[in-house]
Amino acid sequence: MTSSPISERIASVSERIQAACRRAGRSPADVQLVAVTKTLPSETIHAALEAGLKVFGENYIQEARAKIEEIGPSASWHFIGHLQTNKAKYAVKLFDLIHSVDSLKLARELDKRAESINRRIPILIQVNISEEESKSGVDKAYTADLAAQACELPNLEVRGLMTMPPFFDQPEKARPYFKALREVQESIGSPLTELSMGMSGDFEVAIEEGATIIRVGTAIFGPRA
Ligand SMILES: *Cc1c(COP(=O)(O)O)cnc(C)c1O
Repeated sequence: MTSSPISERIASVSERIQAACRRAGRSPADVQLVAVTKTLPSETIHAALEAGLKVFGENYIQEARAKIEEIGPSASWHFIGHLQTNKAKYAVKLFDLIHSVDSLKLARELDKRAESINRRIPILIQVNISEEESKSGVDKAYTADLAAQACELPNLEVRGLMTMPPFFDQPEKARPYFKALREVQESIGSPLTELSMGMSGDFEVAIEEGATIIRVGTAIFGPRA
């Protein structure tokens, strides 16, 4: 096997995932790694595919569209950025999971657009667990309502919740936010099985608190330009 900085970094991230799972008594098979490729060129994604990664996260529709067309169906794509309603028609075509549904209006538009291409589109509801003004996501208190209403939409498959805690230098400080998201999930129950939480700086803590999907960019690809 050839050794590139990317494959070395992936190996190191995998070891850290396994160690966090061991500490939490969880199976690494229950934690999906989404490699976040916003701003990175297609060549980097090709290298990551060669190194064994299959699932990529993108934040911007236009940027993602060009890369997805270029790379083709060998990869799976998740949308993790803020989604404007007028981009829903592209999102349902391009992505296998949309992490960032944060309003009923957006959910309805995704449902309508998914129907028009005969697709049932898996989604997560983004929760603004820290209640910062600057952050996207629904309030904790409104999450159960939105989940229930989205579950009524026949062309959406509501799979779980996503959050982005505030940025901290010390990952331990993010723990209460991850725990709070898990408590929201547990209070709602079925069909919310996925918890998308944890990034390069704090994915181990997120795994200890129950993350089933982690979104990791910098730890795999190095700092973005
Ligand atoms: C950029 C981004 C990430 C990855 O961040 P890193 O710190 O580079 O791992 C994860 N989730 C979302 C929503 C992002 O925008």
